[in-house]
Amino acid sequence: MALGIYIHVPFCLGKCSYCDFVSYLWEPDKVRAYLEAIIKEVKMRGKKIPGSYKQVESLYIGGGTPTCLKKEEISFVIKKCLFYFDLLPGAEISLEANPGTIGRQKLEFLNRAGVNRLSIGAQACQGRLLKLLGRKHSFSDVQDAVRSARQAGFKNISIDLIFGIPGQTLGEWIESLQRVIELLPEHISAYGLHLSEGVPLDERIKNGELDALEEETGLKMYEKTIDVLAAAGFEHYEISNFALPGRQCRHNLLYWRNLPYLGLGPAAYSYLNNRRFGNEKSLEKYIQRINGGKSAEAESETLSQRIRMAETVILGLRLIKGINLNEFALRFGKRLEEVYPRQIEKFAKLKLLEYNGEIIRLTRKGLSVSNQVFVEFV
Ligand code: SF4
Repeated sequence: MALGIYIHVPFCLGKCSYCDFVSYLWEPDKVRAYLEAIIKEVKMRGKKIPGSYKQVESLYIGGGTPTCLKKEEISFVIKKCLFYFDLLPGAEISLEANPGTIGRQKLEFLNRAGVNRLSIGAQACQGRLLKLLGRKHSFSDVQDAVRSARQAGFKNISIDLIFGIPGQTLGEWIESLQRVIELLPEHISAYGLHLSEGVPLDERIKNGELDALEEETGLKMYEKTIDVLAAAGFEHYEISNFALPGRQCRHNLLYWRNLPYLGLGPAAYSYLNNRRFGNEKSLEKYIQRINGGKSAEAESETLSQRIRMAETVILGLRLIKGINLNEFALRFGKRLEEVYPRQIEKFAKLKLLEYNGEIIRLTRKGLSVSNQVFVEFV
């Protein structure tokens, strides 16, 4: 079965106020030690992986801010992956990039090195909101980044946006969507702001300095997103993701279909042979383990059929086309309707789920309250 590989690059030029990803401030010594370790891990995993998982259909370099590495460093990591794994013809190689860390020359080099999809973090177009989020760029940096990427030959560009930011108005959100549409990307991800306990923006809300956005306004923003992007020709294919025809993110589709992937780098997770395992989160400990010739794995769980079925439903319902019931039955030897009759009946009555004997999927109403649905399949 073809695999997706995720490489985590845990460095950024600063910390955004809403971020709980594992990332460290960029420092040359740390980057050097990380690069040595990640190359060793690629080699270690590549040599041990069963032949059936050797073929790779997508490579995703995320973070952090992978583009705060030098172009030669990024391309060296890609080369090593290509050496130890068999990349299928036409495989997707995605790179997350932040405006201000990519220029035309760097992008041309990376495009030649095989990167064929760029995911640019824009988040908003208003300076006030970018500042509140702790982003280090302006919207004109986003425009420059997209222009440079096109000049460098990129034909597949995704742009990330965030809604539900404290103080954000519906008008500002629509403006962000429209200004991003004007940049003619192939893909747009529109995420509702989620604040983990303890991140600076969450603290500012908790101590009364800022008001969280009302849930109702967030829902209106989400509804508007679907309409505005549909009118611009984007297919809504996952709860938070929209693509021009044929431009869905192939790597993320592997996650949503609950198919195998291998995560490399600190804090990266893998799902292989019905086992989920996670690497050491701390960069220092990750490097120590790898340099000591050990696996970076720090946690592991073998998933029972019951858990795998539940996860396949929860992830599959994120896709707008839903879950193919025959495929589910072939995979698990049981029909989804027989495993979850109570949930299907309840949510179909509430018009949150649509079920027609061939597929099961969230309705438009269900998309807005998806978490309430998911929780009952656990
Ligand atoms: S750039 Fe991304 S990973 Fe880095 S701090 Fe900001 S949100 Fe987190």
